[in-house]
Amino acid sequence: MKPELQALTSENIVDFLGSIFDRRGGEEYLGEPVTMGEHMLQGATLAEQNGQSEEIIVGALLHDIGHFTSEFGTFTMNDTEDRHHEDAGADVLERFFPTIVTDCCRHHVAAKRYLCATRPEYFRRLSEASVHSLNLQGGPMTSEEAKDFEQNPNLDAIIAVRYLDDAGKKAGMNTPDFWHFAPMVQRLVDRQKKPIGVIAVQFRE
Ligand code: FE
Repeated sequence: MKPELQALTSENIVDFLGSIFDRRGGEEYLGEPVTMGEHMLQGATLAEQNGQSEEIIVGALLHDIGHFTSEFGTFTMNDTEDRHHEDAGADVLERFFPTIVTDCCRHHVAAKRYLCATRPEYFRRLSEASVHSLNLQGGPMTSEEAKDFEQNPNLDAIIAVRYLDDAGKKAGMNTPDFWHFAPMVQRLVDRQKKPIGVIAVQFRE
């Protein structure tokens, strides 16, 4: 069947995100004992179990969606494979979601660098793969960088999602699938209803 080229809208974005989980969630999360889909679902499930806000649950659910950025078609001239996944994800999410959700995605790598600089016990709990990527990502923040980072009004949510990111790496944890969270995701999209530019995507077989 010929792939259908379709524009993402606030009406179909949730289905599209769900289809990414269904089709590609089983892909490997390099160096971790969980797949990409399991990783994001674990973060969202832990957030829900702990009574966190819907913004934080959905932030955790979608924080790594940028790993699948090829799904979203070419939406800027500068969008290349080696683009940072946190920016790639946030650039898509910001068209549909409140800033707090987008910030949780955009800053989840920086949050690791921030926490390593400000909370010594945090670094000790990182997985081996996460320590390795920390070095590629620039290492712990300087105190100057940390001070800047603290200016973000969504700091608490960003840090909460970072902890969920680190926690969501448990082999064999049971979680619901994406569709359990879909109504909540849609609520946040509906609350936002940003006027959006057209992003063409292919719904693949
Ligand atoms: Fe992650």
